[in-house]
Amino acid sequence: MSTPDEPEARKFVATGVVTVTVADLEQALRTAHMKGLKQDAPVTVTRSGEWNLLMDEYQQRATTTAIYPGAGTGNMQALAYVALGLTGEAGEIANKVKKVLRDDNGEVSTLRRAELFGELGDVLWYAAMLAEELGCSLASVASANLMKLADRQERDVIGGSGDTR
Ligand SMILES: [Mg+2]
Repeated sequence: MSTPDEPEARKFVATGVVTVTVADLEQALRTAHMKGLKQDAPVTVTRSGEWNLLMDEYQQRATTTAIYPGAGTGNMQALAYVALGLTGEAGEIANKVKKVLRDDNGEVSTLRRAELFGELGDVLWYAAMLAEELGCSLASVASANLMKLADRQERDVIGGSGDTR
């Protein structure tokens, strides 16, 4: 987090919740970016403000309900379980959106929104568990992602494709 004395070239702010400085993002990118991250090299989290605390707290609390083969070991069994769970829950979202097209004439009802809201939470839980198994914090994942997107935006390649652009 920046202090009043610290020079701050830019600040990324997402409405009301997220305040991450460039220094935070650079630190997160150095420590958390998946390129070259080894399983035995746990990521150091840069905490910056309420947002990170909320994400880290969510991860911590979600972990208390993590009961699956290899949970918390970061081994292949645990990775496979959470990867399957994550894609399964993402599939549940797709299926509910499909039903909006099939059954609801494209109208997104309050019920469907509520269903999607619930499924999005399930996706978030598995995302948190994947972060846990990778030995990094959900906050560092989010920070690194914001940094990547900001960099692409700056280089005007945000609309292209490819993981390494
Ligand atoms: Mg679900």
